[in-house]
This record gives sequence, C-alpha cells and structure tokens, in this order.
Amino acid sequence: MSKDYYNILGVDKNANQDEIKKAFRKKAHKYHPDKASGDEAKFKEVNEAYQVLGNSQKKSQYDKFGSTFEQAQAGGGFSGFDGFRDFSGFANGFSNGGGGVKMDFEDLGEMFGGIGDIFGFSSGAKNKRRQRGNDIQVALTIDFEEAVFGVEKEISLRKHVICDHCNGNLAEPGTKIETCKTCNGTGRVTKIQRTILGNMQVQAVCETCGGEGKIYERKCKKCHGRGIVMDGAKIKIKIPAGIDNGETIRISGHGEVGERGAAAGDLYIEVHVRSDKKFKRDGYDIKSSVFISFIQAALGDKIDVETIAGDVKLKIPAGTQSSTIFKLRGKGINRLRGGGRGDHFVEVKVRIPDSLSRKQKQLLKELNL
Ligand SMILES: [Zn+2]
Ligand SMILES: [Zn+2]
Repeated sequence: MSKDYYNILGVDKNANQDEIKKAFRKKAHKYHPDKASGDEAKFKEVNEAYQVLGNSQKKSQYDKFGSTFEQAQAGGGFSGFDGFRDFSGFANGFSNGGGGVKMDFEDLGEMFGGIGDIFGFSSGAKNKRRQRGNDIQVALTIDFEEAVFGVEKEISLRKHVICDHCNGNLAEPGTKIETCKTCNGTGRVTKIQRTILGNMQVQAVCETCGGEGKIYERKCKKCHGRGIVMDGAKIKIKIPAGIDNGETIRISGHGEVGERGAAAGDLYIEVHVRSDKKFKRDGYDIKSSVFISFIQAALGDKIDVETIAGDVKLKIPAGTQSSTIFKLRGKGINRLRGGGRGDHFVEVKVRIPDSLSRKQKQLLKELNL
C-alpha cells in the first residue's frame, strides 16, 4: 500500500505548499480524463497525493508515518470526521487560490463523500445506510438466591427485528429485484467536479437507486423497504451463578437489528439483586449472624449455622465473647470466572436474658462469676 506521493506529484520532499499546489495543477491538467493525454488512474492518484501533501497537517503525518499513513487514517474510527476536517482545509485552498468559487451545500456533501473515497474511507452516506443496529440496555431485578445460584430468565423487549414479511430482503414478496443499471449495482457513480484547481473526480451516491445498487419493483409494504420492523421479542437469558448487584451482562447480537442487513447491536442487562434478610453479601463472601445463649458462650457448644450451602455445624469454644466472627471456609458464593468459592462469616452474638425469675437470679448470684 506504500505510495510515494512526492514522486506522484513530482515534487521534492522539502517543497512548500505553493510548489505542491503548482505541481498538482500541472499534473491534474495533464492527466485529466477529458484530455488527449488523460489517464483516469493517474488523475485519481494525483488527486490523492494532493489531498495529503496539499494539507500541511496531513503532510507531516505522512512524512512521519510514511507507508502506514493510509492505515493509520483508516483505523482512526472517526474517518468521516477526519474527512470533513480535511475538506474544510481544502475549501480554504479554493478561496485562496482564486476566490469567487461558490459551492452550495450539495456540492459539499458530494465532495465530502468523494474525498472519503479517495482516501479509502467509507463515506458518510454509506455508513448511514449500513449502520449497525442499536444497543439495548435493560435492567433486571432478581432475588438474592437467584444471583447466588444462577437463574434463567425470560425478558420481553420491544425492538427492531428482521421484517417477517420480506425476511429482510426489502422487496414485497413475489416482486422483482433488479440490479441498478446506472451504477451496475455498486450504488456509487463517478462524477467530474469542476473546481478552481481543475476538474476533480468525485464519487457520489447513485441517484437512480439511492445507493442501494438495486431497483425494487415494489418495496415491502410492511417495512417500507427498511428490512426491519418494531416488534416484541422474548429472550431467554442465563444469569450466571455469582453475579452481583449492579453487574451488567452483555449478550452480543441481541440488540436491535440494523437496517438493510446491517449487524445487530448488543443487549446489555444491568442486574439488580434484592437484598436478603438472612444473608449479606460482600464480594463473594457472605455474612450472617446467629444468637447463642450466654450459657452456650460460657460452656461452649456445637450449633447449626445456615449458609447458602445448607446448614453447617459450628463449634463454639467455651468462653466465646459476643460479636466473635467465625469463618466457614468455602461456604460463600461461587466465583464468576472459576477460582472456587468465597467464605461465609458468621458473627456470634450472645443473648443476655432480660426476664429472669427470682430463683434464676438467685442462682446466678450464687455462681459468683
Ligand atoms: Zn419487509
Ligand atoms: Zn444505482
């Protein structure tokens, strides 16, 4: 993909903008397709070279990145925006050069598309047509235990789905679809744009088919040729065991489908977990509390502690103080991406009796603790 733009324009690497513009004009006149010496491919190449070298910002980028320049541009993501900025620089060039050049908005759009094509960007118009479907974001509330153990839920959405009348091929069933003869199915036509710098070859959306490349005898009456319709959709979702409050699940390709066969967006499900009376969650650990009598605390005992993994026997040592926390290893929540389970921490609280009979009080005093 390496192209030597200096060589194409026949200028030195240190050439200034004036020299570059002069060289471009000379070459553009020479290779103009309408002339005897014309050469469409070379004309295009010269235009391409000037788009870069004639813009000092792009020129320095090109000097820096050399052959990877085009890739760097194409990978930019906001190529449309780049193209636009590039165009505004170009427009200044026009008025400086000769003045009196008037362009209406339509010309601007075409130039924009044209420059994009020269650089190998996808043009704005094309992007709009093939835009990926929208993402959808929904919230889903589940119970504590469902989050701990995982659950399958069905959610209902209203979203754009493929039209069931035409199956997304845009034509009314039983009617003909023909390739556009104007553009031979490419959806683009090449035009010559007269400019102060000579004629420019630009690409424009085919007016016959509106860029579709196809001519429909009759468009689908349900989707009006969009290929998608709004409809209710039910989706079964597997919520993985261990999901926590506020976490989001992405289900790729389950957002809205795009128009005219473009890829579907993604579905994002933000999970809310209801709190539980017995268990509190801390990451993958669970916390709970249990009451024991002061006699159990003093003498020690074995008690049952409720965990998400069922009842677990816990040995209370003699002389356990209130608010002592015991760890039940591995009785917490399964970690989402493997890696075992969290722990269960149980806080033992000693219940002090608040309604003692006279005899009980007497006995306690006799203990003389
Ligand atoms: Zn349809
Ligand atoms: Zn066409």
